[in-house]
Amino acid sequence: MPDTTTVEGVAVDTRHWIGGRRVASASTFTDVSPIDEQPLGEVSAGGPAEVDAAVSAAQAAFPAWAALSRDERADLLHRVADGIDARAEELAVVETRDNGSLLRSHRRSVMPRVGMNFRYFADLLRDLSHPDREIRGHRERITWDPAGVTAVITPWNAPLMLATWRIGPALAAGNTVVAKPPEWAPLTASLLADITAEAGLPPGVLNVVQGLGPQAGAALSAHPGVRRLSFTGSVPTAGLIAAAAAPHVVPLSFELGGKSPLVVFADADLDLAVRLAVEQFDNAGQVCLGAFRMLVQESVADEFLGAVLERARGIVQGDPRDEATDISCLVSRPHFTRVDGFVQRALATGAKAVLGGGPNTELGGLFYRPTILTEVVPGSEIVTEEVFGPVLTMQTFRTEDDAVAMANDTRFGLAATLVTGDPGRAERVSSRVSAGTVWVNCFFVRDLGAPFGGNGHSGIGREGGVHSFDFYCDIKNTVFAPTGWTGGTKE
Ligand code: NAD
Repeated sequence: MPDTTTVEGVAVDTRHWIGGRRVASASTFTDVSPIDEQPLGEVSAGGPAEVDAAVSAAQAAFPAWAALSRDERADLLHRVADGIDARAEELAVVETRDNGSLLRSHRRSVMPRVGMNFRYFADLLRDLSHPDREIRGHRERITWDPAGVTAVITPWNAPLMLATWRIGPALAAGNTVVAKPPEWAPLTASLLADITAEAGLPPGVLNVVQGLGPQAGAALSAHPGVRRLSFTGSVPTAGLIAAAAAPHVVPLSFELGGKSPLVVFADADLDLAVRLAVEQFDNAGQVCLGAFRMLVQESVADEFLGAVLERARGIVQGDPRDEATDISCLVSRPHFTRVDGFVQRALATGAKAVLGGGPNTELGGLFYRPTILTEVVPGSEIVTEEVFGPVLTMQTFRTEDDAVAMANDTRFGLAATLVTGDPGRAERVSSRVSAGTVWVNCFFVRDLGAPFGGNGHSGIGREGGVHSFDFYCDIKNTVFAPTGWTGGTKE
Protein backbone atom coordinates (compact mmCIF):
# COMPACT_ATOMS: atom_id res chain seq x y z
CA MET A 1 0.00 0.00 0.00
CA PRO A 2 1.29 3.54 -0.72
CA ASP A 3 2.27 5.53 2.36
CA THR A 4 0.96 8.83 1.07
CA THR A 5 -1.96 10.15 -0.88
CA THR A 6 -2.25 13.45 -2.69
CA VAL A 7 -5.40 15.44 -1.96
CA GLU A 8 -6.04 18.70 -3.84
CA GLY A 9 -2.29 18.80 -4.60
CA VAL A 10 -1.26 18.26 -0.95
CA ALA A 11 0.75 15.13 -0.05
CA VAL A 12 -0.66 13.47 3.08
CA ASP A 13 1.03 10.57 4.86
CA THR A 14 -1.58 7.96 5.67
CA ARG A 15 0.43 6.09 8.31
CA HIS A 16 0.46 6.56 12.08
CA TRP A 17 2.84 8.99 13.78
CA ILE A 18 4.40 7.24 16.76
CA GLY A 19 7.47 8.35 18.69
CA GLY A 20 8.44 10.80 15.97
CA ARG A 21 8.35 8.18 13.19
CA ARG A 22 5.88 7.09 10.54
CA VAL A 23 4.59 3.58 11.21
CA ALA A 24 2.37 1.56 8.86
CA SER A 25 -0.18 -1.10 9.78
CA ALA A 26 -0.72 -4.24 7.77
CA SER A 27 -4.43 -3.46 7.53
CA THR A 28 -5.92 -0.25 6.15
CA PHE A 29 -9.28 1.44 5.73
CA THR A 30 -10.43 3.48 2.76
CA ASP A 31 -10.95 7.18 3.31
CA VAL A 32 -13.75 8.46 1.07
CA SER A 33 -14.58 12.06 0.15
CA PRO A 34 -18.24 12.87 0.80
CA ILE A 35 -18.29 15.42 -2.02
CA ASP A 36 -18.26 12.78 -4.74
CA GLU A 37 -17.92 9.54 -2.74
CA GLN A 38 -14.55 8.91 -4.39
CA PRO A 39 -11.70 7.26 -2.40
CA LEU A 40 -9.00 9.60 -1.15
CA GLY A 41 -6.56 6.97 0.03
CA GLU A 42 -5.87 3.90 2.13
CA VAL A 43 -5.16 4.81 5.75
CA SER A 44 -3.35 2.62 8.29
CA ALA A 45 -5.85 0.93 10.61
CA GLY A 46 -4.28 0.66 14.05
CA GLY A 47 -5.25 -1.64 16.87
CA PRO A 48 -3.89 -2.67 20.27
CA ALA A 49 -0.26 -3.04 19.06
CA GLU A 50 -0.07 0.44 17.52
CA VAL A 51 -1.88 1.99 20.51
CA ASP A 52 0.52 0.28 22.89
CA ALA A 53 3.51 1.59 20.93
CA ALA A 54 2.05 5.11 20.91
CA VAL A 55 1.27 5.12 24.64
CA SER A 56 4.78 3.80 25.37
CA ALA A 57 6.28 6.57 23.22
CA ALA A 58 4.13 9.15 25.03
CA GLN A 59 5.16 7.75 28.43
CA ALA A 60 8.84 7.87 27.45
CA ALA A 61 8.53 11.48 26.27
CA PHE A 62 6.53 12.63 29.30
CA PRO A 63 9.25 13.30 31.95
CA ALA A 64 11.33 15.59 29.74
CA TRP A 65 8.29 17.41 28.30
CA ALA A 66 6.77 17.91 31.74
CA ALA A 67 10.11 19.16 33.07
CA LEU A 68 10.34 21.98 30.52
CA SER A 69 9.44 25.36 31.90
CA ARG A 70 6.04 26.74 30.92
CA ASP A 71 7.86 29.31 28.79
CA GLU A 72 9.83 26.67 26.93
CA ARG A 73 6.70 24.67 26.18
CA ALA A 74 4.82 27.81 25.20
CA ASP A 75 7.57 28.80 22.75
CA LEU A 76 7.35 25.40 21.05
CA LEU A 77 3.55 25.52 20.90
CA HIS A 78 3.71 28.99 19.37
CA ARG A 79 5.94 27.51 16.68
CA VAL A 80 3.32 24.80 16.07
CA ALA A 81 0.69 27.54 15.71
CA ASP A 82 2.95 29.43 13.29
CA GLY A 83 3.27 26.22 11.25
CA ILE A 84 -0.51 25.83 11.21
CA ASP A 85 -0.94 29.40 10.02
CA ALA A 86 1.71 28.92 7.34
CA ARG A 87 -0.04 25.80 6.04
CA ALA A 88 -3.61 26.96 6.70
CA GLU A 89 -4.60 26.83 3.04
CA GLU A 90 -3.34 23.24 2.68
CA LEU A 91 -5.17 22.25 5.85
CA ALA A 92 -8.33 23.96 4.61
CA VAL A 93 -8.42 22.29 1.20
CA VAL A 94 -7.65 18.84 2.60
CA GLU A 95 -10.25 19.16 5.37
CA THR A 96 -12.90 20.27 2.88
CA ARG A 97 -12.23 17.33 0.59
CA ASP A 98 -12.14 14.94 3.55
CA ASN A 99 -15.32 15.91 5.43
CA GLY A 100 -17.26 18.08 2.95
CA SER A 101 -17.42 21.22 5.11
CA LEU A 102 -17.27 24.63 3.45
CA LEU A 103 -13.84 25.72 2.25
CA ARG A 104 -14.67 29.35 2.97
CA SER A 105 -15.39 28.52 6.64
CA HIS A 106 -12.14 26.62 6.95
CA ARG A 107 -10.24 29.55 5.49
CA ARG A 108 -11.97 32.31 7.43
CA SER A 109 -12.65 30.88 10.85
CA VAL A 110 -11.73 27.24 11.43
CA MET A 111 -8.01 27.15 10.61
CA PRO A 112 -7.26 30.45 12.40
CA ARG A 113 -8.97 28.93 15.45
CA VAL A 114 -6.79 25.80 15.14
CA GLY A 115 -3.66 27.93 15.57
CA MET A 116 -5.33 29.77 18.46
CA ASN A 117 -5.95 26.48 20.24
CA PHE A 118 -2.18 26.21 20.75
CA ARG A 119 -1.34 29.88 21.30
CA TYR A 120 -4.14 30.64 23.73
CA PHE A 121 -3.58 27.72 26.10
CA ALA A 122 0.22 28.06 26.01
CA ASP A 123 -0.10 31.72 27.01
CA LEU A 124 -2.80 31.06 29.59
CA LEU A 125 -0.68 28.50 31.41
CA ARG A 126 2.34 30.78 31.27
CA ASP A 127 0.39 33.29 33.35
CA LEU A 128 -1.59 30.85 35.49
CA SER A 129 -0.94 31.17 39.19
CA HIS A 130 -2.87 31.27 42.37
CA PRO A 131 -1.77 33.62 45.15
CA ASP A 132 -0.41 31.73 48.15
CA ARG A 133 -2.81 31.77 51.13
CA GLU A 134 -2.05 31.98 54.79
CA ILE A 135 -3.83 29.35 56.88
CA ARG A 136 -3.28 29.43 60.60
CA GLY A 137 0.24 30.72 60.09
CA HIS A 138 1.01 28.22 57.34
CA ARG A 139 1.51 29.11 53.69
CA GLU A 140 -0.61 27.16 51.22
CA ARG A 141 0.27 26.95 47.53
CA ILE A 142 -1.84 25.58 44.67
CA THR A 143 -0.09 24.35 41.51
CA TRP A 144 -1.21 22.77 38.25
CA ASP A 145 1.13 19.85 37.54
CA PRO A 146 1.37 17.74 34.37
CA ALA A 147 -0.74 14.59 34.67
CA GLY A 148 0.72 12.13 32.13
CA VAL A 149 -0.40 10.59 28.86
CA THR A 150 -3.61 12.06 27.47
CA ALA A 151 -5.82 10.21 25.00
CA VAL A 152 -7.76 12.45 22.59
CA ILE A 153 -10.54 10.78 20.58
CA THR A 154 -12.47 13.07 18.24
CA PRO A 155 -15.23 13.14 15.58
CA TRP A 156 -15.38 14.15 11.93
CA ASN A 157 -17.62 17.23 11.88
CA ALA A 158 -14.77 19.66 12.66
CA PRO A 159 -11.84 17.25 12.82
CA LEU A 160 -8.77 19.43 13.27
CA MET A 161 -10.50 22.16 15.29
CA LEU A 162 -11.97 19.69 17.78
CA ALA A 163 -8.75 17.66 18.07
CA THR A 164 -6.55 20.69 18.73
CA TRP A 165 -9.02 22.21 21.20
CA ARG A 166 -8.01 19.27 23.46
CA ILE A 167 -4.43 18.65 22.21
CA GLY A 168 -3.47 22.34 22.68
CA PRO A 169 -4.24 22.58 26.42
CA ALA A 170 -3.04 19.01 27.12
CA LEU A 171 0.38 19.76 25.64
CA ALA A 172 0.56 23.19 27.27
CA ALA A 173 -0.16 21.51 30.60
CA GLY A 174 2.94 19.33 30.13
CA ASN A 175 1.08 16.15 29.18
CA THR A 176 1.98 14.03 26.20
CA VAL A 177 -0.77 12.99 23.80
CA VAL A 178 -2.02 10.03 21.79
CA ALA A 179 -4.67 11.26 19.35
CA LYS A 180 -7.13 8.98 17.53
CA PRO A 181 -8.65 10.94 14.62
CA PRO A 182 -12.05 10.13 13.12
CA GLU A 183 -12.02 7.46 10.43
CA TRP A 184 -14.40 9.50 8.26
CA ALA A 185 -11.95 12.46 8.16
CA PRO A 186 -8.47 11.34 9.24
CA LEU A 187 -6.16 13.38 7.02
CA THR A 188 -5.55 16.76 8.67
CA ALA A 189 -4.40 15.04 11.89
CA SER A 190 -1.58 13.56 9.85
CA LEU A 191 -0.64 17.01 8.52
CA LEU A 192 -0.69 18.27 12.12
CA ALA A 193 1.89 15.60 13.02
CA ASP A 194 4.17 16.90 10.23
CA ILE A 195 3.71 20.47 11.46
CA THR A 196 4.59 19.58 15.06
CA ALA A 197 7.74 17.78 13.88
CA GLU A 198 8.77 20.78 11.78
CA ALA A 199 8.16 23.03 14.80
CA GLY A 200 10.60 20.94 16.86
CA LEU A 201 8.20 19.13 19.17
CA PRO A 202 10.25 16.25 20.66
CA PRO A 203 9.43 12.71 19.44
CA GLY A 204 6.62 11.07 21.40
CA VAL A 205 5.08 14.30 22.71
CA LEU A 206 2.27 14.06 20.12
CA ASN A 207 1.39 10.69 18.62
CA VAL A 208 -1.36 9.97 16.10
CA VAL A 209 -2.88 6.50 15.77
CA GLN A 210 -5.23 6.19 12.82
CA GLY A 211 -7.95 3.59 12.75
CA LEU A 212 -11.51 2.55 13.36
CA GLY A 213 -13.30 3.35 16.60
CA PRO A 214 -14.02 -0.20 17.78
CA GLN A 215 -10.35 -1.13 17.24
CA ALA A 216 -7.95 1.80 17.66
CA GLY A 217 -10.37 3.88 19.77
CA ALA A 218 -11.34 0.98 21.99
CA ALA A 219 -7.69 -0.06 22.55
CA LEU A 220 -6.76 3.51 23.51
CA SER A 221 -9.70 3.86 25.91
CA ALA A 222 -8.75 0.64 27.67
CA HIS A 223 -4.99 1.29 27.89
CA PRO A 224 -3.68 1.36 31.47
CA GLY A 225 -0.99 3.91 30.57
CA VAL A 226 -3.52 6.68 29.85
CA ARG A 227 -3.94 9.28 32.65
CA ARG A 228 -6.51 11.59 31.02
CA LEU A 229 -9.10 10.76 28.38
CA SER A 230 -10.73 13.47 26.38
CA PHE A 231 -13.53 12.42 24.05
CA THR A 232 -15.78 14.30 21.67
CA GLY A 233 -18.46 12.24 19.96
CA SER A 234 -21.72 10.43 20.41
CA VAL A 235 -23.41 9.21 23.59
CA PRO A 236 -23.29 5.46 22.78
CA THR A 237 -19.53 5.66 22.16
CA ALA A 238 -19.09 7.66 25.36
CA GLY A 239 -20.66 4.79 27.31
CA LEU A 240 -18.25 2.28 25.78
CA ILE A 241 -15.26 4.51 26.45
CA ALA A 242 -16.26 5.17 30.06
CA ALA A 243 -16.63 1.44 30.69
CA ALA A 244 -13.27 0.66 29.06
CA ALA A 245 -11.44 3.35 31.05
CA ALA A 246 -13.14 2.66 34.38
CA PRO A 247 -10.80 -0.11 35.64
CA HIS A 248 -7.87 2.32 35.44
CA VAL A 249 -9.74 5.18 37.15
CA VAL A 250 -8.93 7.57 34.31
CA PRO A 251 -10.39 11.09 34.59
CA LEU A 252 -12.72 11.70 31.65
CA SER A 253 -13.78 14.82 29.78
CA PHE A 254 -16.71 14.17 27.44
CA GLU A 255 -18.24 16.59 24.92
CA LEU A 256 -21.22 14.76 23.46
CA GLY A 257 -24.36 15.36 21.48
CA GLY A 258 -27.19 17.82 21.82
CA LYS A 259 -30.79 18.55 20.89
CA SER A 260 -30.76 22.21 21.70
CA PRO A 261 -33.78 24.51 21.50
CA LEU A 262 -34.22 27.85 19.75
CA VAL A 263 -36.92 29.52 21.87
CA VAL A 264 -38.66 32.43 20.16
CA PHE A 265 -40.98 34.59 22.27
CA ALA A 266 -43.68 36.85 20.82
CA ASP A 267 -41.75 39.89 22.06
CA ALA A 268 -38.66 38.89 20.04
CA ASP A 269 -37.01 40.75 17.21
CA LEU A 270 -38.47 38.35 14.65
CA ASP A 271 -35.99 39.25 11.95
CA LEU A 272 -33.16 38.25 14.31
CA ALA A 273 -34.98 35.05 15.27
CA VAL A 274 -35.41 34.14 11.60
CA ARG A 275 -31.71 34.70 10.87
CA LEU A 276 -30.73 32.57 13.85
CA ALA A 277 -33.10 29.79 12.74
CA VAL A 278 -31.70 29.63 9.22
CA GLU A 279 -28.13 29.65 10.59
CA GLN A 280 -28.84 26.21 12.06
CA PHE A 281 -28.44 24.71 8.58
CA ASP A 282 -24.71 25.63 8.61
CA ASN A 283 -22.35 22.69 8.05
CA ALA A 284 -25.44 20.79 6.86
CA GLY A 285 -26.59 20.66 10.49
CA GLN A 286 -23.59 18.59 11.55
CA VAL A 287 -22.97 20.84 14.54
CA CYS A 288 -23.24 19.62 18.12
CA LEU A 289 -24.40 23.04 19.34
CA GLY A 290 -27.13 23.46 16.72
CA ALA A 291 -30.52 24.68 17.91
CA PHE A 292 -32.59 22.27 15.88
CA ARG A 293 -35.79 22.43 17.94
CA MET A 294 -37.59 25.66 17.12
CA LEU A 295 -40.02 26.44 19.95
CA VAL A 296 -42.12 29.44 18.99
CA GLN A 297 -44.81 31.33 20.90
CA GLU A 298 -48.17 30.61 19.31
CA SER A 299 -49.14 34.18 18.49
CA VAL A 300 -46.13 34.73 16.18
CA ALA A 301 -45.68 31.19 14.90
CA ASP A 302 -47.20 31.67 11.43
CA GLU A 303 -45.40 34.93 10.79
CA PHE A 304 -42.10 33.44 12.01
CA LEU A 305 -42.40 30.26 9.95
CA GLY A 306 -43.33 32.17 6.79
CA ALA A 307 -40.24 34.36 7.13
CA VAL A 308 -37.98 31.39 7.91
CA LEU A 309 -39.19 29.56 4.81
CA GLU A 310 -38.67 32.59 2.63
CA ARG A 311 -35.12 33.01 3.87
CA ALA A 312 -34.30 29.28 3.82
CA ARG A 313 -35.38 29.00 0.19
CA GLY A 314 -32.42 31.28 -0.62
CA ILE A 315 -29.87 28.80 0.76
CA VAL A 316 -27.41 27.73 -1.92
CA GLN A 317 -26.54 24.06 -1.67
CA GLY A 318 -23.57 22.72 -3.61
CA ASP A 319 -19.89 21.91 -3.77
CA PRO A 320 -18.18 23.03 -0.54
CA ARG A 321 -15.23 24.40 -2.53
CA ASP A 322 -17.47 26.94 -4.25
CA GLU A 323 -17.49 30.34 -2.49
CA ALA A 324 -21.20 30.77 -3.25
CA THR A 325 -22.21 27.58 -1.44
CA ASP A 326 -24.03 27.94 1.88
CA ILE A 327 -24.45 24.28 2.74
CA SER A 328 -22.89 21.19 1.32
CA CYS A 329 -23.23 17.42 1.75
CA LEU A 330 -23.41 15.01 4.67
CA VAL A 331 -20.21 13.28 5.72
CA SER A 332 -20.79 9.68 4.63
CA ARG A 333 -23.29 7.25 3.15
CA PRO A 334 -24.11 5.62 6.52
CA HIS A 335 -24.72 9.03 8.08
CA PHE A 336 -26.86 10.12 5.11
CA THR A 337 -29.00 6.99 5.51
CA ARG A 338 -29.31 7.65 9.26
CA VAL A 339 -30.44 11.27 8.76
CA ASP A 340 -32.98 10.29 6.09
CA GLY A 341 -34.26 7.52 8.35
CA PHE A 342 -35.15 10.05 11.05
CA VAL A 343 -36.97 12.26 8.55
CA GLN A 344 -38.90 9.47 6.82
CA ARG A 345 -40.01 7.95 10.16
CA ALA A 346 -41.21 11.37 11.31
CA LEU A 347 -43.15 11.88 8.06
CA ALA A 348 -44.66 8.41 8.41
CA THR A 349 -46.01 9.33 11.84
CA GLY A 350 -47.73 12.52 10.76
CA ALA A 351 -45.05 15.19 10.57
CA LYS A 352 -45.27 17.61 7.67
CA ALA A 353 -42.22 18.74 5.65
CA VAL A 354 -42.78 22.43 4.99
CA LEU A 355 -39.26 22.58 3.54
CA GLY A 356 -37.19 19.78 1.98
CA GLY A 357 -37.89 16.40 3.51
CA GLY A 358 -35.43 14.23 1.59
CA PRO A 359 -32.25 13.97 -0.46
CA ASN A 360 -31.37 16.69 -2.96
CA THR A 361 -31.99 14.66 -6.10
CA GLU A 362 -30.63 17.39 -8.40
CA LEU A 363 -27.21 17.25 -6.76
CA GLY A 364 -27.40 13.54 -5.93
CA GLY A 365 -24.71 11.85 -3.83
CA LEU A 366 -24.76 12.80 -0.16
CA PHE A 367 -26.57 16.13 -0.53
CA TYR A 368 -29.61 16.37 1.75
CA ARG A 369 -32.14 19.17 1.41
CA PRO A 370 -32.49 21.68 4.24
CA THR A 371 -35.59 20.37 5.97
CA ILE A 372 -38.19 21.84 8.34
CA LEU A 373 -40.77 19.57 9.93
CA THR A 374 -43.97 20.77 11.60
CA GLU A 375 -46.79 18.81 13.25
CA VAL A 376 -44.22 16.56 14.90
CA VAL A 377 -45.38 14.18 17.63
CA PRO A 378 -44.33 15.53 21.06
CA GLY A 379 -41.84 13.16 22.69
CA SER A 380 -41.11 11.32 19.41
CA GLU A 381 -37.51 10.67 18.34
CA ILE A 382 -37.44 13.56 15.88
CA VAL A 383 -37.77 16.02 18.80
CA THR A 384 -35.74 14.10 21.37
CA GLU A 385 -32.84 12.47 19.49
CA GLU A 386 -29.89 14.09 17.76
CA VAL A 387 -30.25 13.86 13.97
CA PHE A 388 -26.97 15.67 13.16
CA GLY A 389 -28.22 16.79 9.76
CA PRO A 390 -29.98 19.82 8.17
CA VAL A 391 -33.27 19.04 9.88
CA LEU A 392 -35.21 21.49 12.07
CA THR A 393 -38.50 20.87 13.81
CA MET A 394 -41.00 23.53 14.84
CA GLN A 395 -43.39 23.35 17.81
CA THR A 396 -45.42 26.08 19.47
CA PHE A 397 -45.96 27.06 23.09
CA ARG A 398 -48.36 29.35 24.97
CA THR A 399 -46.66 30.50 28.14
CA GLU A 400 -43.16 31.08 29.46
CA ASP A 401 -43.54 28.05 31.72
CA ASP A 402 -44.48 25.90 28.72
CA ALA A 403 -41.43 27.16 26.84
CA VAL A 404 -39.09 26.24 29.71
CA ALA A 405 -40.66 22.81 30.11
CA MET A 406 -40.36 22.07 26.37
CA ALA A 407 -36.80 23.40 26.19
CA ASN A 408 -35.76 21.09 29.03
CA ASP A 409 -37.65 18.06 27.76
CA THR A 410 -34.63 16.06 26.46
CA ARG A 411 -31.86 14.02 28.01
CA PHE A 412 -29.35 16.52 26.57
CA GLY A 413 -28.25 19.94 27.82
CA LEU A 414 -25.53 21.30 25.59
CA ALA A 415 -26.88 24.71 24.57
CA ALA A 416 -30.03 26.81 24.36
CA THR A 417 -30.76 29.91 22.31
CA LEU A 418 -33.42 32.36 23.50
CA VAL A 419 -34.83 35.22 21.47
CA THR A 420 -36.78 37.79 23.46
CA GLY A 421 -37.06 41.54 23.68
CA ASP A 422 -37.83 41.45 27.40
CA PRO A 423 -34.70 41.64 29.60
CA GLY A 424 -36.56 40.27 32.62
CA ARG A 425 -37.73 37.27 30.64
CA ALA A 426 -34.19 36.76 29.34
CA GLU A 427 -32.95 36.57 32.97
CA ARG A 428 -35.75 34.29 34.13
CA VAL A 429 -35.70 31.81 31.27
CA SER A 430 -31.91 31.63 30.92
CA SER A 431 -31.66 30.72 34.61
CA ARG A 432 -34.27 27.95 34.26
CA VAL A 433 -33.04 26.17 31.10
CA SER A 434 -30.62 23.31 31.58
CA ALA A 435 -27.66 23.85 29.25
CA GLY A 436 -23.90 24.31 29.39
CA THR A 437 -24.20 27.42 27.20
CA VAL A 438 -27.21 29.75 26.88
CA TRP A 439 -27.23 32.37 24.15
CA VAL A 440 -29.69 35.25 24.51
CA ASN A 441 -30.47 37.04 21.24
CA CYS A 442 -27.31 35.59 19.68
CA PHE A 443 -25.82 32.24 18.65
CA PHE A 444 -22.40 30.59 18.49
CA VAL A 445 -20.57 33.37 20.29
CA ARG A 446 -17.65 31.30 21.55
CA ASP A 447 -14.45 32.23 23.29
CA LEU A 448 -11.60 29.94 24.27
CA GLY A 449 -11.73 31.32 27.80
CA ALA A 450 -15.38 30.41 28.40
CA PRO A 451 -16.35 27.15 30.11
CA PHE A 452 -17.67 24.74 27.51
CA GLY A 453 -19.50 21.45 27.96
CA GLY A 454 -22.93 20.00 28.49
CA ASN A 455 -25.40 18.82 31.10
CA GLY A 456 -27.07 15.42 31.20
CA HIS A 457 -26.17 13.24 28.24
CA SER A 458 -24.35 16.13 26.57
CA GLY A 459 -21.18 15.48 28.47
CA ILE A 460 -19.02 15.29 31.53
CA GLY A 461 -16.99 18.26 32.73
CA ARG A 462 -16.09 21.63 31.27
CA GLU A 463 -13.12 22.76 29.23
CA GLY A 464 -12.07 26.22 28.11
CA GLY A 465 -9.88 28.75 29.90
CA VAL A 466 -8.57 27.55 33.22
CA HIS A 467 -11.20 24.79 33.29
CA SER A 468 -9.08 22.97 30.70
CA PHE A 469 -6.13 22.93 33.08
CA ASP A 470 -8.33 21.81 35.94
CA PHE A 471 -8.89 18.70 33.83
CA TYR A 472 -5.53 18.13 32.15
CA CYS A 473 -3.44 18.82 35.28
CA ASP A 474 -2.96 17.17 38.63
CA ILE A 475 -3.80 20.04 40.96
CA LYS A 476 -1.63 20.06 44.03
CA ASN A 477 -2.05 21.81 47.36
CA THR A 478 1.26 22.28 49.20
CA VAL A 479 1.29 23.59 52.78
CA PHE A 480 4.51 25.13 54.11
CA ALA A 481 4.93 25.30 57.87
CA PRO A 482 6.27 28.55 59.39
CA THR A 483 9.87 28.53 60.54
CA GLY A 484 10.19 26.93 63.97
CA TRP A 485 6.84 25.17 63.78
CA THR A 486 6.57 22.53 66.48
CA GLY A 487 3.22 20.99 65.73
CA GLY A 488 -0.09 21.36 67.42
CA THR A 489 -2.21 23.10 64.77
CA LYS A 490 -4.04 19.94 63.66
CA GLU A 491 -7.77 20.24 64.27
P1 NAD B 1 -18.72 8.73 17.30
O1 NAD B 1 -18.98 8.60 18.74
O2 NAD B 1 -19.23 7.69 16.38
O3 NAD B 1 -17.14 8.79 17.02
C1 NAD B 1 -16.29 9.72 17.63
C2 NAD B 1 -14.91 9.12 17.76
O4 NAD B 1 -14.98 7.98 18.60
C3 NAD B 1 -14.30 8.66 16.43
O5 NAD B 1 -12.93 8.95 16.42
C4 NAD B 1 -14.52 7.16 16.49
O6 NAD B 1 -13.57 6.43 15.75
C5 NAD B 1 -14.35 6.89 17.97
N1 NAD B 1 -14.97 5.63 18.42
C6 NAD B 1 -16.03 4.98 17.88
N2 NAD B 1 -16.27 3.84 18.57
C7 NAD B 1 -15.36 3.79 19.58
C8 NAD B 1 -15.12 2.87 20.64
N3 NAD B 1 -15.83 1.76 20.79
N4 NAD B 1 -14.13 3.16 21.49
C9 NAD B 1 -13.39 4.27 21.36
N5 NAD B 1 -13.56 5.17 20.36
C10 NAD B 1 -14.54 4.93 19.48
O7 NAD B 1 -19.24 10.15 16.89
P2 NAD B 1 -19.26 10.79 15.43
O8 NAD B 1 -20.40 10.26 14.67
O9 NAD B 1 -17.89 10.70 14.84
O10 NAD B 1 -19.48 12.33 15.79
C11 NAD B 1 -20.75 12.90 15.93
C12 NAD B 1 -21.08 13.08 17.38
O11 NAD B 1 -20.13 13.94 17.99
C13 NAD B 1 -22.42 13.76 17.56
O12 NAD B 1 -23.14 13.14 18.60
C14 NAD B 1 -22.04 15.18 17.96
O13 NAD B 1 -23.00 15.86 18.69
C15 NAD B 1 -20.82 14.93 18.74
N6 NAD B 1 -20.03 16.18 18.86
C16 NAD B 1 -20.01 16.84 20.06
C17 NAD B 1 -19.31 18.03 20.18
C18 NAD B 1 -19.28 18.78 21.48
O14 NAD B 1 -18.39 19.59 21.66
N7 NAD B 1 -20.20 18.55 22.40
C19 NAD B 1 -18.63 18.55 19.09
C20 NAD B 1 -18.70 17.87 17.88
C21 NAD B 1 -19.40 16.68 17.78
